[in-house]
Amino acid sequence: MTTPQSPSKPRRINTSPIRALDKDGNEITTVGFNRFGFDSEVPIDVLRSLYLRSHYVVSASVATSPQTLEDEAQEFQHAKFSQGHEVYQSKSIYHPETRSISYTTLSRFPPVKLLAPSKRKRVLVTGGAGFVGSHLVDRLMLLGHEVTVLDNFFTGSKTTVSHWVGHPNFELVRHDIVEPFMIECDQIYHLACPASPPHYQFNAVKTIKTSFMGTLNMLGLAKRTKARFLISSTSEVYGDPEVHPQTEEYWGHVNPIGPRACYDEGKRVAETLTYGFQRQDGVDVRVARIFNTYGPRMNPYDGRVVSNFIVQALNGEDMTVYGDGKQTRSFQYIHDLIDGLIALMNSDETRPVNIGNSDEFSIGEFAELVRETVEKVQAEEGTKPARRVQIVYKPMPTDDPQKRRPDTTRAFESLRWKPRWTVRMGLEEMVRYYKAKMAEGSL
Ligand code: NAD
Ligand code: UDP
Repeated sequence: MTTPQSPSKPRRINTSPIRALDKDGNEITTVGFNRFGFDSEVPIDVLRSLYLRSHYVVSASVATSPQTLEDEAQEFQHAKFSQGHEVYQSKSIYHPETRSISYTTLSRFPPVKLLAPSKRKRVLVTGGAGFVGSHLVDRLMLLGHEVTVLDNFFTGSKTTVSHWVGHPNFELVRHDIVEPFMIECDQIYHLACPASPPHYQFNAVKTIKTSFMGTLNMLGLAKRTKARFLISSTSEVYGDPEVHPQTEEYWGHVNPIGPRACYDEGKRVAETLTYGFQRQDGVDVRVARIFNTYGPRMNPYDGRVVSNFIVQALNGEDMTVYGDGKQTRSFQYIHDLIDGLIALMNSDETRPVNIGNSDEFSIGEFAELVRETVEKVQAEEGTKPARRVQIVYKPMPTDDPQKRRPDTTRAFESLRWKPRWTVRMGLEEMVRYYKAKMAEGSL
């Protein structure tokens, strides 16, 4: 239906809720599942209200000035994500004239499940202020558990979990895991470690210390408290693989002295430590080998390919493909990873488990897909620029793996886990997230 347009109400913009379809074409309304005696299901709208909507509103002086169609489009776009959850959003006020912000706090937190004490876990999440950690924290909090985040904010940020600060079930601790830490807990998700190549190469010695000493400290804590311990390992333990796709039985092909070694060898020795504590001390361990993951809250400037391509395309800049773009990666959306981590933690599987999406793309193809997705979202919002961004080629970094795709048979057999999100669906949501960040002036 078309209605006459007024300057303050751009009715031609579609404000119906965003729908995501899974790989089988079914609508995704919840993430998680009730498996291994641990119910991890939450509505996707509630999660979206935590990460997709803008956290700021612009100051009144600006709000009264005439809005551009672009501003209005952004505002309506944000309305799509509220879905009745706006009461749980803080309305901090951004003043563009002075580039300053007045913070407000939440008057109410999103509702969390009320669990019987026997079901409620005390969960420690190291690296909980990072990209993956913050999504895990959202899920565990909504499910009613007590969550402590340990983070030194090297690559993470307080803003990723600020919506839980003050909640009785939540605690945020600034701590570097290279130093020991004492706490009572039932489960430890050990995620702390920079994950993007520019970040982990920034201070290679610190990355190795975090992987070795940090993991040693957290395993010591698990031993003392008898907490179950899950480490986020990586597909990088397979290096530049000679086996394709990679199964957990493959021992890898890693350059021990190259620029990626601080991370790759760091994670390999972290796995060795983990199984050492299992054998010697009976620590109850889980090892997730995570393949490339993307989603909202990924640091837009962390140098990884998904964030780089989307931010470049949204800014109308050239998209930088390294090498000839024939190297491959398989990208999984964040909610699938969180489902996999929670399933693994609560299952009986103690062997390493690959968690990743097996839809493999060459980086050149992937650049095209990101460009198309950004254009689709811009077209829907009436903000598509006249000039198409270009894809340009830059030198290949040293030791960049040529191909990567997980064999996830074990995850399916042991956890009944398989990825649900298509790469395209996840990309659309991530593009919307970065657009919202741009609109609020924080990107
Ligand atoms: P991220 O950089 O966003 O998060 C890492 C978090 O750890 C940050 O909050 C950072 O401040 C914190 N941290 C780093 N060093 C620390 C230290 N010494 N003490 C305390 N905190 C510290 O990265 P991410 O993508 O969220 O990755 C999380 C985990 O998942 C990492 O262990 C990473 O190796 C693993 N992983 C991620 C991917 C991926 O594609 N995102 C792939 C494979 C493995
Ligand atoms: N890459 C790229 N352009 C970029 C960033 C990365 O072509 O702007 C390539 C990179 O060389 C690698 C792939 O994309 O082949 C994935 O890189 P990323 O840093 O995201 O993760 P990796 O899997 O290499 O750890």
